[in-house]
Amino acid sequence: MPAEKNVAKTEQDMSRIIAEEIVERSPSVAIRVTGPDRGYATLFVTENISSYGYSKDDFVSGKLKWIDLVHPDDHDVVVNALKKNDEDNLGQFSMVYRVRMADGTPLWISDTTVVERDEKGRVVHYDCIMRDYSETKSNIEKIEDNFRQKEVLNDILQGLHDADLDKALQAILDRAGSYLDISRVTLFEDSRNHTQCKAIYEWCNSGISPMTGRDDFILNYEKDLPGVIRQLMESGVVIVNHGDDPQGSQKRFEMEGVVAAVMFAVYIQDELFGFLCFDECVRKRRWDRDTIAFLENVARLVSTALLRKRNEQVISNMALTDQLTGLHNRYYLEQRLNQAVGNARQIGQTGYVLFIDMDDFKIINDGYGHDYGDVILKSFATFLVEEYEAESEIFRFGGDEFVILLHPENAGSVQKVINGLLARAQMPWNVLDKSFYCTLSIGVVAFPEENMDSKDIIKHADIAMYQAKRSGKNNYAFFNSTQDNDSVERAELEKEMRESIDNNFTGFSVFYQPQTDNTGVVIGAEALLRWTLSDGTQVQPMQFIPLAEYLGLIVPVGEFVLRESAQVCRRVNETHPEFWVSINVSIRQFQQQDFLERVLMIMDETGVNPANIIFEITEGMAMYDMARMKSLSEEFRQHGIRISMDDFGTGYSSLGNMRELPIDIVKIDRTFIRDITTDAYSKSFIRLIIDLVHSMGRKVCIEGVETAEQLKYCQECKADYVQGYHLHVPVPLDEFEKIIAQKSQDA
Ligand code: C2E
Ligand code: MG
Ligand code: MG
Repeated sequence: MPAEKNVAKTEQDMSRIIAEEIVERSPSVAIRVTGPDRGYATLFVTENISSYGYSKDDFVSGKLKWIDLVHPDDHDVVVNALKKNDEDNLGQFSMVYRVRMADGTPLWISDTTVVERDEKGRVVHYDCIMRDYSETKSNIEKIEDNFRQKEVLNDILQGLHDADLDKALQAILDRAGSYLDISRVTLFEDSRNHTQCKAIYEWCNSGISPMTGRDDFILNYEKDLPGVIRQLMESGVVIVNHGDDPQGSQKRFEMEGVVAAVMFAVYIQDELFGFLCFDECVRKRRWDRDTIAFLENVARLVSTALLRKRNEQVISNMALTDQLTGLHNRYYLEQRLNQAVGNARQIGQTGYVLFIDMDDFKIINDGYGHDYGDVILKSFATFLVEEYEAESEIFRFGGDEFVILLHPENAGSVQKVINGLLARAQMPWNVLDKSFYCTLSIGVVAFPEENMDSKDIIKHADIAMYQAKRSGKNNYAFFNSTQDNDSVERAELEKEMRESIDNNFTGFSVFYQPQTDNTGVVIGAEALLRWTLSDGTQVQPMQFIPLAEYLGLIVPVGEFVLRESAQVCRRVNETHPEFWVSINVSIRQFQQQDFLERVLMIMDETGVNPANIIFEITEGMAMYDMARMKSLSEEFRQHGIRISMDDFGTGYSSLGNMRELPIDIVKIDRTFIRDITTDAYSKSFIRLIIDLVHSMGRKVCIEGVETAEQLKYCQECKADYVQGYHLHVPVPLDEFEKIIAQKSQDA
């Protein structure tokens, strides 16, 4: 037993020794102190109290007490916690607080205390195990920080849904800046050629001076921040801790009072937009990894917002750009012109707007389809850009209409631009497998005019353009205010023309001008359209035919003429089977894909003999597309319809064209016969053409014969047919029927 006791004792001793060893070797400090009534006096403390910078003796001697270890900032918290644990009669509890180390620095510890009580429940002593908690504590703080940062980032992300992206960008800077409590956050925009940047958005802490709005604050890369910018461009980030020499840019940093900074290069997709800078001007900051990661995320969100902003700009640009040609459109023209007008007023100088319309473009487009039309528009746009972009702004106004805006500084070139445009229009446009002539009508207006905004100016340019068209196309006209009245008239005419057509062509009628052989015997008639407005005014064909062509209304109106005159012809043919009607057709009719079918349908309907129908075409029409003109004319001829070339001698006057086309009759323009007495050229032209045409086996008609002398010359030259006031003026149907009745009597 004694041996047993001995063994037991030894075992007990061993255990104690081991326990002591464990306690002494542990990195934790163990301390046994009395309860509060005895002032927390130290009963035991491990040697490693030295890790706090104190000696064991300080405590054992009573010079220091456990409570002195508690950092003054945490003193009350700890004492209160102890009191509460006491009241709750706890046997064990844990606390986290800071101890004050011997050198005064605080150290976070976790204290696990076991309480020993007497039978009355009073504290005999506390056994405290104090473990270093600083790492855990900072980890927890980091987690909390991360959590808060995430919240901030999330807030920012929500803000990106703001419709106003300027506001959203500003909000990102505000939120990040105030969260980090730094001095300033600035977004700089790069100058694009990478030489300098300018502050565009900014957040400043109180007392910190902003960089935006400071005219002098344009960072010149070479001068101000050579190393920093280079590094930013290379690695995308520059971190300047307090005390660093930021890439030899110390001077600039000092100048701005920056003591530490983090800078990011900001990209929109792959394109450098600028730099986002977080400046610290007050505290001696050293940036930790987490903060930098957070800032990097902020920079990412800034670039997301910028991308969205740019996408929106692209979309709004699209609204201002014509998709086909890539030119700006009429909406942008309005904006630019208003600016130009304001500017011109301010400097007291004049600029010009040129309104360009491609003559008869609609014919090509309707006749050949959009493929051809689109290519012509694109070629024309390219031509305008190549020739005039340096000195003007170019817009596609719509359809085949383009606008050149000449600012006052380039106003001197207005005539040069007009001449260049008209010269280009003399040459064909090569489109796919074809080439087309498409002349231009140009309206020019000077600005600023008093009380005129962009809309008025464009309207005036359009009126001038129409004036140019009326004067025979392929021309230009400067706006003057009398045209303004014309435009009102034009709008009214357009309205009434549409109403007339809808109203079964009321107001429209066909006059007939007899055509005779050179002895004066009526052998046919030219159908000439007349139009009387509802108020009784007669509108001249020279006025309404171009308008009808311009509006495309010549197609239904032309069909009306054809139907009417075919009926008349069929009736006359009952007594004069050879009698013909010569009908003017517009190129817009000719280019209708189903023109042939429609004509044949009317022939059928009216029962007219197609051999007594002659279509008058002009050379200009042939020039658009020789191939189509040729094949269509040939088809007409196969059906017996003859083709006459009207107004020969004006325009392109090519015998080559005439040879190629299946022309039956050439009508020499009336200006030639008019001038035979004064102009030797006209006289010889008539003779020469008659000879040439006869040699090709075709007939000649001289139009505009007004005098007996002129008629005599026609006979001399052996013109086949004549037409003119000297013989007959154009007359309405009833009078024409009288002429025919007379002819029947004569026969
Ligand atoms: P155009 O085809 O050359 O028609 C001949 C024009 O000369 C007619 O003018 C006629 O009245 C006029 N005229 C005839 N004899 C004389 C004369 O001895 N002296 C003078 N100074 N003039 C004479 P109008 O009727 O005013 O027609 C003008 C133009 O309008 C026509 O020129 C033609 O190009 C066009 N036009 C007329 N009717 C139609 C039509 O139904 N369809 C189309 N597409 N065009 C038409
Ligand atoms: Mg004619
Ligand atoms: Mg004619």
